[in-house]
Amino acid sequence: MANRIRLLEENVINRIAAGEVIERPMSVVKELVENSIDAGAGVISVDIDQGGKKLIRVRDNGCGMSPDDVFLALERHATSKLQSEKDLISIASMGFRGEALAGIASVSELRLSTKDDSDSPGWEAQVEGGVFRKSNETGTGKGTVIEVHRLFFNVPVRRKFLKGPGIEADYIQDLIVRFALAFPHIGFKFTEDGRTKIDVAPMNTIEERVHALYPKDVRNNLAQADYQVDKARLTGFVGKPPFSRSSMKSVLTFVNKRSVKDRLINMAVNRAFANLMERGKYPFAILFIETPPEEVDVNVHPQKAEVRFMNPREIADLVTDGVYKAVMGFSFSERSQNIYPVFRGRSNYQASYSGGSPAESSRIFPLDHNVEVLHSAFAPPVGTEDPGVEQTPYFSDLSYIGALPSSFILLHNEEELVILDHHAAHERLLFDELMDASNAESPQTQTLLIPEILTFNSLEARALNEHLDILNDSGFLVEAFGDNDFAVKGAPEWWGGSDLRIFFDSLIQLLLETGVTGNTDTLKTEIYKSMACQSAVKETSSLSREEVKQLLKELDDKNTVQVCPHGRPILLKLPFDEIRRKMGRK
Ligand code: ADP
Ligand code: MG
Repeated sequence: MANRIRLLEENVINRIAAGEVIERPMSVVKELVENSIDAGAGVISVDIDQGGKKLIRVRDNGCGMSPDDVFLALERHATSKLQSEKDLISIASMGFRGEALAGIASVSELRLSTKDDSDSPGWEAQVEGGVFRKSNETGTGKGTVIEVHRLFFNVPVRRKFLKGPGIEADYIQDLIVRFALAFPHIGFKFTEDGRTKIDVAPMNTIEERVHALYPKDVRNNLAQADYQVDKARLTGFVGKPPFSRSSMKSVLTFVNKRSVKDRLINMAVNRAFANLMERGKYPFAILFIETPPEEVDVNVHPQKAEVRFMNPREIADLVTDGVYKAVMGFSFSERSQNIYPVFRGRSNYQASYSGGSPAESSRIFPLDHNVEVLHSAFAPPVGTEDPGVEQTPYFSDLSYIGALPSSFILLHNEEELVILDHHAAHERLLFDELMDASNAESPQTQTLLIPEILTFNSLEARALNEHLDILNDSGFLVEAFGDNDFAVKGAPEWWGGSDLRIFFDSLIQLLLETGVTGNTDTLKTEIYKSMACQSAVKETSSLSREEVKQLLKELDDKNTVQVCPHGRPILLKLPFDEIRRKMGRK
């Protein structure tokens, strides 16, 4: 009698524990697949019926269990993976709580069959709602098969809260994709109601795995990330803007091979993509963070989706820098140092568009500088002096066909027709320059020979006054004097003599609309976007061939992202193959 009562209590405890860990069929799959990975499996297959509500089967070719271990494994807090408290801080395996199997067995009908390497026979066991029903020898190969039938049959409340089979199956499929990405050397199979959804063989590299899992349109738009700071490393793939997705679900992150959903990491990813994504669009990213086990606490959440870092700020910077570098070629924090040398030509480019004659633009730029840049614009592709950093000059190789309505220009190469949004491209180049200038230690300012005096009404003057520091940060030299008067004594190097009055009027308009409430960083970005937009070329019909050529060269030199600061694409490619197909030429 005493025995029976004890058993019930044990059962209740298990069920409570299961409630923490096992929320839905996906949670079962997660625990079982983790066990298979820990068991050293080379291939893991997962089959589900009715979204896992009727059946979940996980089969592996891992180390298997001895008959004795089968009993132990089904008891709570029995684990072969954790010897003592101190192991907790350096957890290398996926499972470590020793409660998953017992928990699952307490809320389902669980059937297990397994065999290890030894001479012991294969063994099978059946547990129903936490009660052993059957346990006997069986003929089976090395490895383990666990079937979970009728999940939550004895927890009707939980069963009621499950979604439809399709949605539960989607959760599971997402999960298996994550496992497959984190463990390329393991083969994964997944079937839903007998239909194969995922089937990837063991592979050597993550590249191959990404290839196997994602369609061409995704693969063709990926940049590789590899970035290290001290002992922390970021690797993986990010979608090159304008490639984007409709939700943050397309950002998959892993910490020491565990799939995590972490606010900090997501924010760091978004920070890198600020001004590279259109509003309402999200990046695509598969990111692996590796950090010494003692510097991350994965034991925060029973399902182990959340983590706690010892140095959260450093991890966030690692992610932002690494992602940014993958997309842009240099890290977020490096931007100011790295762009400047490449960018000497920009000022000339801007000058040639500002509508001013050379004499006018020399108000700001030394003339000889212009001349030098003019020559270099037609120089052979860079990279010849150092074969190690070979660049492929995509833009410079395009032939110019002509200007189209709006700010579009038409170009082509051997493979494709290209429509370039000249305004958007120019805007991007200017915006980057602005951001860099403001991040640089000392912004590049050119003093105006004659200061320009601007007078505003008091409301406008106040708005401008409140944001003078942002302007001066970005290379302007503006001083207030009197109540409503300002003297513009200098402008950023790229400015090139556009009408300051027009610029300041529209800037103040922006400040009055958004400025007073916005935080400084967002506001700064908004101002830069507007500055870039203001100064970028709008009318393309009067462009000369040379001017177009120069823009193309800038785009190559800068190797910039192919979106404007509002996230809109700067070019559209129409492959001749596609055109031929559409024209019925096979
Ligand atoms: P944990 O994974 O935290 O140790 P579990 O309840 O998930 O706890 O598993 C208990 C034990 O059962 C494991 O430590 C392992 O020894 C054994 N085990 C579970 N699944 C497998 C498997 N697929 N192959 C071999 N051993 C397994
Ligand atoms: Mg486990």
